[in-house]
Amino acid sequence: MATTHKTRMLIIGSGPAGLSAAIYGARAGMEPIVVQGLQPGGQLTITTDVENYPGFREVIQGPWLMQEMQAQAEHVGTRMMWDTITSVDLTGPKFVAVGDSGDIYEGDTFVIATGAQAKWLGVPGEQELSGKGVSACATCDGFFYRGKKVVVIGGGNTAVEEALYLTNHSEDVTLIHRRDSLRSEKILQDRLFANPRIKVVWNKRVESFLADPANGQLRALQLIDTQTGAESEIETDGAFVAIGHAPATELFKGKLAMDESGYLLVEPGTPKTDVPGVFACGDVMDHIYRQAITAAGTGCMAALDAERFLAEREFAEKAKEEA
Ligand code: FAD
Ligand code: NAP
Repeated sequence: MATTHKTRMLIIGSGPAGLSAAIYGARAGMEPIVVQGLQPGGQLTITTDVENYPGFREVIQGPWLMQEMQAQAEHVGTRMMWDTITSVDLTGPKFVAVGDSGDIYEGDTFVIATGAQAKWLGVPGEQELSGKGVSACATCDGFFYRGKKVVVIGGGNTAVEEALYLTNHSEDVTLIHRRDSLRSEKILQDRLFANPRIKVVWNKRVESFLADPANGQLRALQLIDTQTGAESEIETDGAFVAIGHAPATELFKGKLAMDESGYLLVEPGTPKTDVPGVFACGDVMDHIYRQAITAAGTGCMAALDAERFLAEREFAEKAKEEA
């Protein structure tokens, strides 16, 4: 039978943003509920080495970091739910979410931390070699390719920024794009073309990622010319797929303001959406930084603002009663 779970702070998503909101919310006595979704722990659970999350001198593992965050959130009083939200009602004053299980979640405040997923090409070898030479995050993994040869696939701002970033580590960066002009902003293109460490391969689509049978690591990409159909290969140590990200905001279409790419819009410098009492944090509202630390930071902000929102509302209600 379906159960209704009530809380002062309902958090959807269990990545760094959701769990950080939970830690702050729980410590403020909000007794938060976190609905974990299909990827408990979020994107960091599909990576290995994490070297840029502050507080750890040695390399740590993404899944381990997320287990620790969850343990900390539970330790201070968060309730974790194995469920995925399938519909929401944000008309308020109580915010209601319905889970895949049929259970109903009711929050006095609502924190959205559903993240975003990198888009993948969906060609042979890509998923098999993910973490073995294929990545979707240069900021995260570029460091592992110091002095090596790398390629970036895509022609938008992300791809150009990733290529520029990778020149900090590699002298041999190739951008592979399926057309003969880039979609990215001109200023970024100017920087790209002026950088002697970057070559651009035009009109090529990636047909497959090829492994080195000796070590199971990425060895090369098989390319097809989009104009002539000619096949070729490019040898590389690392390939960064940078063809965009998709924020997990399907549930909120028509209910919350979002930009043309589907990212939730917030009041600048805050996690406040256009519905009072509903907050967004992490990758779901950030198409620029997309890091665990920024997600955690905005998760903290969401919890603090949720707490203030409730305190102000309760103060106003009390004052009304007493009047
Ligand atoms: P996510 O981590 O994406 O979590 C989203 C959560 O929402 C998940 O728990 C999911 O199950 C849940 N969810 C989604 N929809 C629903 C729903 N309908 N109902 C319930 N729950 C739902 N960053 C770094 O700082 N350093 C790194 O080294 C690094 N390496 C990375 C390596 C890889 C391969 C990838 C993909 C990313 C990496 N990142 C790294 C980026 C980092 O993982 C993200 O910026 C961060 O995880 C975003 O956190 P988030 O909490 O906003 O969202
Ligand atoms: P994007 O602008 O949608 O560009 C995606 C790129 O990937 C395009 O060049 C596209 O090619 C290519 N692509 C898509 N699917 C492909 C496929 N299957 N095979 C090969 N190539 C494929 O995505 P983005 O670069 O991630 O940017 C997303 C949004 O974030 C944009 O609004 C962008 O301006 C913004 N952003 C801003 C900054 C910044 O301001 N500094 C940084 C990063 C991102 P085509 O060009 O042929 O379509």
